[in-house]
Amino acid sequence: LGVLFYYLHTVRFAVTILGSGAAIPANGRNPSSQLVEIRNHLLLLDCGEGTQMALRKFVPGIQRISHIFISHLHGDHFYGLVGLISSFHLLGRINPLHIYGVPELKEIIDLQLKHSRTELVYPLEFHEIDPDKAEIIVENEHFFVKTIPLNHRIPTCGFIVSEKPLKRNIRKDFVNTADVPVNSFEKIRAGADFVDADGKVYPNSSITTDPPRTKSYAYCSDTTYHEPIVNIIRGVNLLYHEATFANDKQKDAKEKLHATAREAARIALQAGVGRLVIGHFSARYRDPEILLDEAREIFPDTIAAEDGLTIEL
Ligand SMILES: [Zn+2]
Repeated sequence: LGVLFYYLHTVRFAVTILGSGAAIPANGRNPSSQLVEIRNHLLLLDCGEGTQMALRKFVPGIQRISHIFISHLHGDHFYGLVGLISSFHLLGRINPLHIYGVPELKEIIDLQLKHSRTELVYPLEFHEIDPDKAEIIVENEHFFVKTIPLNHRIPTCGFIVSEKPLKRNIRKDFVNTADVPVNSFEKIRAGADFVDADGKVYPNSSITTDPPRTKSYAYCSDTTYHEPIVNIIRGVNLLYHEATFANDKQKDAKEKLHATAREAARIALQAGVGRLVIGHFSARYRDPEILLDEAREIFPDTIAAEDGLTIEL
């Protein structure tokens, strides 16, 4: 059972919405934040006010969060960050915390820590990002994260979180018939052919099967309708796209460089994504029904973000 539990966690890829509202917390919705669990790593995308309380409510073991990505410096996307950094400190965190954002974010963090005379007990590693570029900013054997330049009132980028391919699976019938030394398993899983004691060659393609296809998630925090992102996010399994307004407020959306639900759906359709989740709903919408209906007319496989909702990829 322990092995099964470990396996499920190493392959799990899920997104939990911690905040689905726009600038003002209202209607039971926190400002933007999402937790991504990927191959046993926890990543936080944005950290609006209230994120800590939502984490406490919906996520066990918050000290496991290793990376935090901040899309831009509007308060509803990062006013919860220093509070979270501080709580990790008070809880005696040991592991490094990696924070990704525009260079100005580091100034803000440093200033707040300086004037509260806080010397963190754990390493905080800040990584500058350039929101105008689509580039890989984190990569390891399990996943990678890439930026998505967005079009908003201040420099803003979204993020793609993507699995790295797993190793190949060795066929059971091969293991049962051939005499395979245990130390050959890893090489075969990495793609090598097998040569037995008599010199007989077993091509890798005949003794292994493909690993599961990798999945990816795109998070587009705040943006106006912006077609250049289509090529960057093409084919992702799940897309989150902001939908601050319904169609009657198209003019406001344009002026404030936000998107309507229909525009989010048009982006999803053009990019050929698997599913769409919309969020960042203006406080004027008590119920996102109208936004959902408008999006579904264009892209039927759309769901509305709710605080606490977990979506498995
Ligand atoms: Zn914004």
